[in-house]
Amino acid sequence: MLLYNTQTRKKEKFIPITPGKVGIYACGPTVYNYFHIGNARAFIFFDVVRRYFEYQGYEVTYVQNITDIDDKIIAQANEENTSFHMVADKYTRAFLEDTAALGINKPTFQPKATEVMNDIIAFIAALEQKGFAYSVEGDVYFATEKLPSYGCLSGKKMEEQLAGARVVENPNKHHPADFTLWKKGKPGEPVWDSPWGKGRPGWHTECVVMSKKYLGDIFDIHCGGIDLIFPHHENELAQAMAFSDKPLSNYWMHNGFLNVDGEKMSKSLKNFFTARDILAHYNAEAIRFFFLSKHYRSPIDFSRELIEEAQRAVANLYSSLSEINYLDNVQNSPQTMCGTAVELQNLHKEYITAMDDDFNTAKAISILFELNRKVKNTSSAFADRLAAAQKLVELGSILGFFQNMEEQLSTFMPDLSKDLIELILSYRQESRRNKQWTVSDRIRDDLARLGIEIKDTPEGVKWNLKEKK
Ligand code: AMP
Ligand code: ZN
Repeated sequence: MLLYNTQTRKKEKFIPITPGKVGIYACGPTVYNYFHIGNARAFIFFDVVRRYFEYQGYEVTYVQNITDIDDKIIAQANEENTSFHMVADKYTRAFLEDTAALGINKPTFQPKATEVMNDIIAFIAALEQKGFAYSVEGDVYFATEKLPSYGCLSGKKMEEQLAGARVVENPNKHHPADFTLWKKGKPGEPVWDSPWGKGRPGWHTECVVMSKKYLGDIFDIHCGGIDLIFPHHENELAQAMAFSDKPLSNYWMHNGFLNVDGEKMSKSLKNFFTARDILAHYNAEAIRFFFLSKHYRSPIDFSRELIEEAQRAVANLYSSLSEINYLDNVQNSPQTMCGTAVELQNLHKEYITAMDDDFNTAKAISILFELNRKVKNTSSAFADRLAAAQKLVELGSILGFFQNMEEQLSTFMPDLSKDLIELILSYRQESRRNKQWTVSDRIRDDLARLGIEIKDTPEGVKWNLKEKK
């Protein structure tokens, strides 16, 4: 299995630290608002990474934090005229609801920053003791100059970072690249007691502490969107190196942006749609399909047309399963070898090869459609169509499709209403021919109650839709 490692800028063979196990940390949301559909790209992709490792038989420990204390949460609390607790609780609940609605599995551990405050304080104290942190008037900073490897994740040299960043000169810092580990609280802000006085932790410290707490000093994969490479992940890595001389994680994976007119979808640019809003209009698996039909490192432009197209594609898969009455038949069908077994095995191998090649989900989806064609092929034996459907569901599930199958099958059921009306009218005609006037009148009246008006004309029966009676 090959993964593109941001740190080395190449695809590398995945070798787990402990055979058969994989530890993954994904940066979670800062809960100051509803998350947007760009964030959903990251959350959905990590969910697929986790599902694929599980499918491959790994025991996965998947940790995703919730950042529940941050400047933005405090600002939002002031705006909503409430406490930071209320804001964090409200949007944590919304995050859990919306990720569940997107079909994202719950992480193995989902720590909140405020729950690990003692660990955070102990960690900063350890950095201070090792000479990598210094405090000035209640703020604590990381001394980047003390760490020769600083910048090794993003590949930015110290001078570039300074030129690139709009650094407001802070006279308390020993070096402009130094970052905050602990921030002194201002009056009215939420604070925790610490050896440096009352204050709260910096974001980079929260994540490094939570990842280490649940996954150990070094783990397999650290994920996030590309905006997090610098400074967030660079600074997490710096703290880890300073703390234990270990590089935090062996692989760093970063997803590309969801853009709007070529610009990153983001809260600050106000060019976003919440996942909640998009979910109100489109099916969750269509949203998933929209993202996964492109490689995770490529940028994607937000497009309602493409989400609608994705919805038609997903409907097409479900319609094939309906056509062979999948749910009923699959229970009665042992997975037997049949005529197409070799072809299915080949498609299976192609699928695995695609996923093993740095999660080529676009190629994996094209293989789902090859299977779909086999399911739809009415000239094949039914057992072969059913076997193709089983393979389709098995491989599609790795990408998170075919969840709540029963509900989805009815959502995507083809519209049969016209055919059904014609069928009922044919029974009415038959009853008229047999002079069963009570039956034919009853059919007419019952249809009228549903808003279907019928007229007998010399050319036959005509119907149209009216108000329900
Ligand atoms: P945040 O709450 O801003 O820390 O973001 C949560 C996750 O979403 C992080 O992994 C971000 O890198 C990712 N993210 C933020 N904006 C986008 C975007 N427009 N497209 C893809 N991923 C994003
Ligand atoms: Zn993080």
